[in-house]
Amino acid sequence: MSSSDVDVVVVGGGAAGVAAARRLGQASIRCLLVEARPRLGGRAWTVHDSGRRALDLGCGWLHSADRNPWVGVAEEQGAAIDKTPPPWMHRPLEASFPSSEHADFRRAFAEFYARLDEAAQGGTDAAASTLLDPASRWNALLNAMSTYISGAELDRISLKDLDRYQSTDVNWRVVDGYGTLISAYGADVPLLLDCPVSAIDHSGKRLKIETSKGAIAADQIVVTVPSAILAAERIQFVPALPEKVQAAHGLPLGLADKLFISLENAEEFETSVRLFGHTDRVATAGYHIKPFGWPIIEAYFGGCCAAALEAGGMAAFFDFAVAELVGVLGSDFAKRVKPIRIHCWGGDPFALGSYSFALPGFADSRRTLAEPVDSRLFFAGEACSRHDFSTAHGGYFTGVAAADQVIAARRAITA
Ligand SMILES: Cc1cc2nc3c(=O)[nH]c(=O)nc-3n(C[C@H](O)[C@H](O)[C@H](O)COP(=O)(O)OP(=O)(O)OC[C@H]3O[C@@H](n4cnc5c(N)ncnc54)[C@H](O)[C@@H]3O)c2cc1C
Repeated sequence: MSSSDVDVVVVGGGAAGVAAARRLGQASIRCLLVEARPRLGGRAWTVHDSGRRALDLGCGWLHSADRNPWVGVAEEQGAAIDKTPPPWMHRPLEASFPSSEHADFRRAFAEFYARLDEAAQGGTDAAASTLLDPASRWNALLNAMSTYISGAELDRISLKDLDRYQSTDVNWRVVDGYGTLISAYGADVPLLLDCPVSAIDHSGKRLKIETSKGAIAADQIVVTVPSAILAAERIQFVPALPEKVQAAHGLPLGLADKLFISLENAEEFETSVRLFGHTDRVATAGYHIKPFGWPIIEAYFGGCCAAALEAGGMAAFFDFAVAELVGVLGSDFAKRVKPIRIHCWGGDPFALGSYSFALPGFADSRRTLAEPVDSRLFFAGEACSRHDFSTAHGGYFTGVAAADQVIAARRAITA
């Protein structure tokens, strides 16, 4: 297909874009996916270590796996799924968090979410941090958890939006990588890689999409780029779409970065052990030891802690992790670990962060962001999802929903 001869252009080839393009292709609509990177997957990205183990630098967990459409895709592809319960469902390593204290923290965590649920029923929105119990000793750790869950501390997060997130608490993993799965799903889609879109002119009869490889004309477009890209106006809309830019500003991407570390003499640990760096401060990482039984530690950094470390690159993350691990496991532990790989999502020019949260007062911006414009411009991506935001399955659902809107709009024109 020539790029001047398409019905619909899908901008962005992550979970949402790939799902949208597949749906449009199934409806026999001539669609072209235009992706800025030299690969598909976006924030779903699997790389391999020297032992050919799949490391997910972006999404790794099939959250809400019992209703997650990527599970069906994995089954179609014959990809192995690991159903071992995630580390956050187990008690953490005793040395890092004694069980009696952990039980007390679990109670504080449950009570915080009960207050969240109640407050969200009220009329006004506020920062989720207003629901912390000032007398609780666990506020720092609740905030640290928030940096893993939402990529930001609780004072930046809309309590209404946080409460709308829905999880079935079933969490599985794709052994060959979530990124591998999502990019393979887009393998047969007509696409242009390495091709950033810089402008979308919707003033004329046909849409004009300016890219680094020239202009493309189309009848309709599905925009699936991250909300932070829209907020930064990396794509110029002509005429401008200030309501989209404003909605995107209300839905910034939080920051979460994963550092993979190799571990010598890993036999000492059971598979999938969880370790806390500190339990009394916000700037701490979560450690998943021996995922899949591999001699690896997956260290998870979020929020301001990740933002500060990004400036120093992998060395800064590794030094931070070693200091925390040594604090829990003793000074000899430092000799057993080496850094393997990290990706700094805050500095990634086509993401500008990890996953979206809503600022206080902006929970309804997800709906505004997802609304079509003139039955010609459609929007998808995890930030458009009301209940599954911040996830790859949320991306999928919004991609399919936008494709279905395109299909309905085309039918309405020809009816
Ligand atoms: C460290 C980390 C851990 C995570 N863990 C999980 C997890 O365990 N489970 C889970 O479900 N989710 C997780 N997520 C979130 C998940 O990865 C994302 O929510 C999901 O992949 C987003 O998909 P998307 O299609 O909405 O956006 P993206 O994947 O960001 O896709 C948008 C695409 O648009 C492209 N693009 C940007 N600008 C342009 C332009 N100008 N022109 C053309 N293309 C452009 C980008 O390159 C990208 O490919 C994690 C993310 C990170 C970073």
